[in-house]
Amino acid sequence: MRTLGLIGGMSAESTAIYYRELNRLVRDRLGGLHSAQLILWSVDFAPIAQLQAKDDWAATGARLADAGRRLEAAGAEALLICANTMHINAPEVTAAVSIPLIHIGDATASALKAKGVTRPLLLATRFTMEKAFYRDRLAAAGLSPLTPDAERERLHAVIFDELCQGLVREDSRQAVLEMIARGKAAGADGVIFGCTEIGLLLEPEATGLPTVDTTIVHCEAAVDFALGQYRTATPNR
Ligand code: GLU
Repeated sequence: MRTLGLIGGMSAESTAIYYRELNRLVRDRLGGLHSAQLILWSVDFAPIAQLQAKDDWAATGARLADAGRRLEAAGAEALLICANTMHINAPEVTAAVSIPLIHIGDATASALKAKGVTRPLLLATRFTMEKAFYRDRLAAAGLSPLTPDAERERLHAVIFDELCQGLVREDSRQAVLEMIARGKAAGADGVIFGCTEIGLLLEPEATGLPTVDTTIVHCEAAVDFALGQYRTATPNR
């Protein structure tokens, strides 16, 4: 089995899901006592979130590149950035190492296409919804994502002030379900849980549309790689 290197802690709540899912998937595929072989570099998220809020993506990129280097030196054979937002620094991370980065956007695009979705509603942090890095990756795969309009700030606050801090609130669940209903009325034919914590709030089945939870499909792509079945990750050199 190949060794996975996880850049986690963004947030710790969703990194716990990665750890559980990666192990569950390996056990499902290999049976018995099999579990994922992995190395986790889990950051303190508070200083990273402060840099995000200041739009200092060069500084976050330096931190993530450093984490990637440490994981490669420790024996990781591929990297995962365990968050959607921080894929804004995917170029810095890939430039810092010689092992492949398994990109969450690629795993998400493949899963959406397999479900026949073309206009997904992207539920994510304000950064992921508004900056080009993520939507462009989906567009390059032939998808036309929509985002909530007026409710983007509310969704961002639910992610940072609640889910990333382990709080799951019923009023927020209802608010997100209403965003999904409005997205559907605006023409969305699917939903992306485009933040690795959203699965804490909602089951994919609750949306009433074909839905991709980025955390889960990212873990599936990682296990494909670990077990020698991953076809799209290409080494950086
Ligand atoms: N885990 C999140 C994501 O998937 C949000 C936290 C962050 O901004 O890194 O985007």
